Amino acid sequence: MQKITCPKCAKQFIWTDDNPPGGKCPTTNCDWYYDVRKEIGKSLEKRAGESSRAAFSCPGCGAALASRWSRCKSCGAWIMASRPWKKSHLIFIAVLVLVILAFFYRYLS
Ligand SMILES: [Zn+2]
Ligand SMILES: [Zn+2]
Repeated sequence: MQKITCPKCAKQFIWTDDNPPGGKCPTTNCDWYYDVRKEIGKSLEKRAGESSRAAFSCPGCGAALASRWSRCKSCGAWIMASRPWKKSHLIFIAVLVLVILAFFYRYLS
């Protein structure tokens, strides 16, 4: 099954395995001929482009990352939402959380 978009009438139609590998656009007044192998090639290219765009890279050193939330293997920076976090930032956040917890503990007891 392959979704084909006609460049002439801009209509989309579904090609199934029962259809011939090449043929006329199903739109009545349209004389465009499709070649399903070309269309499959086009959609594969499109998919490859999308997956390369989805890959993340370390903003610090440019190394490829497995996900948006991970630690860079080459420079050791923590990447959170594609932003590098220095260790000092993490310590600052940890201290902040402790201060807030201490405040609540005091307030509640
Ligand atoms: Zn057409
Ligand atoms: Zn890095």
